[in-house]
Amino acid sequence: MTGVLAAAAVMVPEGDTIAVHEPGWIALDGGVVVDAGAGARTGALDLQDVFLAPGFVDLQVNGVDDVDFASADADGWRRAGRLLLGHGVTSYCPTIVTAPLGTYGPALRRVATARADAGERSLPAIIGAHLEGPFLGGAPGAHPRELLRDAQPEWITALLDGEPGIVRIVTVAPEADRAHAATRLLASRGVLVSLGHSTATYDEAMSASEAGARLVTHVFNGMSPFHHREPGLAGAALDLDRLTPTLIADLVHVHPAALRLAIARKRNIALITDAVAVKAGAVGGIAVREVDGAARLPDGTLAGSVLTMDAAVRNLVGIGVRLSRALEMASTIPARLLSLGDFGHCGVGGRADLVALDRSTLTVRGAWIDGVQARGPEVWV
Ligand code: ZN
Repeated sequence: MTGVLAAAAVMVPEGDTIAVHEPGWIALDGGVVVDAGAGARTGALDLQDVFLAPGFVDLQVNGVDDVDFASADADGWRRAGRLLLGHGVTSYCPTIVTAPLGTYGPALRRVATARADAGERSLPAIIGAHLEGPFLGGAPGAHPRELLRDAQPEWITALLDGEPGIVRIVTVAPEADRAHAATRLLASRGVLVSLGHSTATYDEAMSASEAGARLVTHVFNGMSPFHHREPGLAGAALDLDRLTPTLIADLVHVHPAALRLAIARKRNIALITDAVAVKAGAVGGIAVREVDGAARLPDGTLAGSVLTMDAAVRNLVGIGVRLSRALEMASTIPARLLSLGDFGHCGVGGRADLVALDRSTLTVRGAWIDGVQARGPEVWV
């Protein structure tokens, strides 16, 4: 759209920080934010009592409802996109878990097709795939151990060349890439290396970060517990400036106290859902079902979440995190990690991917993709 959106609260970047204008407005021209400010603005479309914020960016989501991104068809991708948009997600990295090597090429071709389709339909942008496995280590969680392997640079090169620009994040355990050859290769090709599913020590994690790893997959989950004499990957994730941890804020995977400690320690933390298609009963080739608020293997091992990004934001606010801080972790910080300068903020030059949240319930009341307002239920603005 071209015009001005006004709301009771609008979150915009201000230098390196975030400002909340109450009330505020955002001017759009086509799909881009061209101006933003505080106070009332004549001629604006008034969205009234909502909090207007950047659309959410989910760096790790395996599936939604009964749509598993490892095997989704065209209809499934579209439905998943609409469901994600209903929870305020305007861009995401579909995530493929550990699987036989021969399945990754076809899975990435389906991601590439879905990405082009989403772009034509004003569905959430598919930024690119997150490969969580098979290069995992001593804490595989639900990933099938028999399919784990050491990272193979030749195979990675062939995979990246086969679908250029589709792989954006690879979770690698330091113990599966001892000489850091794969980490260096991926970083040099512009792929984010995320450390995870690992029993690496603090020093091993530091050494991987020096080789180019910048992210840590779901800190506290799939790694050695933090210990004051053996801080491990969790300690490195929170201590080292160059690492950004991701967090699953469903209040099942991580205790509220640990969430608060992590968030108090570091500004650069990205929320992920790690949601899986529980209604499909599987994530990739792994059978899962929903028990006690999360997806689990039959033995109870956590195998992903049933979380949505708007619920993650509500959960953080519920444990005492400031709303603008939670929203920054759901949008601005993950977008910046992927060097998507025009995503994840409502400042001048930002892509007009927006979410409107009800100010009292923090439920989604509207969403815009690239300046196009999505149709939603009756309660949407
Ligand atoms: Zn995982």
